[in-house]
Amino acid sequence: RTHVRQTAPFRWEEVSLLAYKEDEGTHFKGVTRQVLFPGDSQLPVQWRYFEVAEGGHSTLESHDHVHAVMIVRGEGAVLVGTRIHRLATGDLVYVPARTWHQFRAPAQGPLGFLCLVALERDKPRRPTAEELARLREDPAVASFIRV
Ligand code: MN
Repeated sequence: RTHVRQTAPFRWEEVSLLAYKEDEGTHFKGVTRQVLFPGDSQLPVQWRYFEVAEGGHSTLESHDHVHAVMIVRGEGAVLVGTRIHRLATGDLVYVPARTWHQFRAPAQGPLGFLCLVALERDKPRRPTAEELARLREDPAVASFIRV
């Protein structure tokens, strides 16, 4: 299809509102996923829209692939590596390979962002107990992360 209409704010015609991840668990909270562009051989990337509900968070994870992110709704915060950044609509976030990252929405409203990834990519992985302990050595990181 060459044109996909927006049917409501941050919803699009025939784009399914999906669970953030297939598996269940407490490592994420209140996150939905929509695949806006699924990618093909001519453009081997996927462009997704994620929305984190108020008080929610994405999984604390790391992987070999990278993310290019643009905040398009609300505000929030993100951990990238060992740094925590406050986020506002219009901000850009680059997540390098093999870097711990987690997005959090504020208590008052959702955080929505576009996320570009390679079509062929490795599976995200969560920290081991040892890696988590190392991350928690930084007090700011310790208080930010949700696992
Ligand atoms: Mn990721």
